[in-house]
Amino acid sequence: MLGLFGKSITPIKEVLEAKPLNKMVTVAGWVRTRRDSKAGVSFVELSDGSHIRPLQLVIPITLENSGRDLPRLHPGTSLLATGLLIPSIGKGQELELQVEEFGILGPSDPESYPIQKKRHSFEFLRSYPHLRPRTNTFGSVFRMRSRLFFQIHRFFQERGFYYISTPIITQSDCEGAGELFRVKGQSESGEEFFGRPTYLTVSGQLELEAFALSLGKVYTFGPTFRAENSFTTRHLSEFWMVEPEVAFLDLYGLIGLAEEFMRHLLSTTLIESREELEFFDRWVSAGLIKGLEESINKEFVIMPYEEVIRVLCESKEPFQYPVHWGVDLKTEHERYLTERYVKGPVFVIDYPKEIKPFYMKLNPDGKTVRAMDLLLPRWGEIIGGSQREEELRTLMERMEELKMDMDRYWWYLDLRRYGSAPHSGFGLGFERLLLYLTGLNNIRDVIPYPRTPNTIVV
Ligand code: ATP
Ligand code: MN
Repeated sequence: MLGLFGKSITPIKEVLEAKPLNKMVTVAGWVRTRRDSKAGVSFVELSDGSHIRPLQLVIPITLENSGRDLPRLHPGTSLLATGLLIPSIGKGQELELQVEEFGILGPSDPESYPIQKKRHSFEFLRSYPHLRPRTNTFGSVFRMRSRLFFQIHRFFQERGFYYISTPIITQSDCEGAGELFRVKGQSESGEEFFGRPTYLTVSGQLELEAFALSLGKVYTFGPTFRAENSFTTRHLSEFWMVEPEVAFLDLYGLIGLAEEFMRHLLSTTLIESREELEFFDRWVSAGLIKGLEESINKEFVIMPYEEVIRVLCESKEPFQYPVHWGVDLKTEHERYLTERYVKGPVFVIDYPKEIKPFYMKLNPDGKTVRAMDLLLPRWGEIIGGSQREEELRTLMERMEELKMDMDRYWWYLDLRRYGSAPHSGFGLGFERLLLYLTGLNNIRDVIPYPRTPNTIVV
């Protein structure tokens, strides 16, 4: 690949993995630490973000510019260095670069550079979303995030799904009122830019259903927006959602798909992000790897909502929110169910229709819908999905009950008029998946630039 000043630069990942011993290598990155020894050399830990481990540089004080530049190698300084790669006799690393030539690309003021200590609190680092990816923790989060993106596309593409770019600006308020961001132009007259109210999408599902009912197996994966005032560690105002939608698939087929999907992501992450997981296991969440490995082989339990309510009622737990048929499950209920009762992931199905959106398929009992939520120990809901109502009459009745504006959904109803078919889909919150896989606690720490009510740093 191209480099700088006619030199080709080798990513540190490649140096550490391919180990081109006794070869001249040029690397570029940012100084983590510098230690001056009495033996006439300085040891510099250089990181370029390509790998969790830094490369140790050994820079002799005898180089032409050492006198001037060595003292300036403060944390955060960017550096280009060329030297011979040799086995390291020092502790802590296998290799080191015997530097023969180096140059500072950009200095870093040691007085003001915020990322000084080896370990800052996550909260402190949230004030520096533009600098935190230079730390081990956040470098690891975002390398994992990127690999997961690719694995998600791979999972669906290998199974014959087509990727559909559903719109960001929409007219439909899929999940009900109160959670929408309005989209307006800059018009001074106050007129609607599109001639009618528009919003940022809360889910690509409705638009995706049309493509499931024409291409068969489809998915979308994009940013999603919710103007909900949820100050929790699991909610963002802007997050990413993966949504498969499949024609000729019922609720049980959908649960099978979700299970296979979770297993694929778990097993590929355990292989390709091993070093990052070891880091999190050691510093963030003890027992993380063991827990993930066990989840791969665990049966996912399926429980109807009615049974969940019975279990919760019989538990004699002093829940803050009382339990009875019809309530939406709160965090405390989900945690009791997954951590104490099932002791693992659980699909809850057949929820009361009142607490679910209009498009879910009505069960023959007339009270519950063919919904499924996947709940995980510690993190709660990670997937929400359902079989969709494919019968025109039933769907229209439900929309009337909810006093919805039918005219706005004419196209959605068309899908039930012309060749309607059973179909199902779910939405997985990508950042919640990352919490589960990294063991981190706060959803603000797994998205590059978090947006939450009243907070937007960069
Ligand atoms: P919750 O009850 O946790 O608010 P929800 O029922 O609103 O979730 P859905 O509308 O079913 O969630 O969305 C599908 C998935 O998207 C959820 O299972 C979750 O993983 C994720 N999700 C929903 N809202 C948010 C949010 N505000 N921030 C991050 N992820 C979210
Ligand atoms: Mn919600």
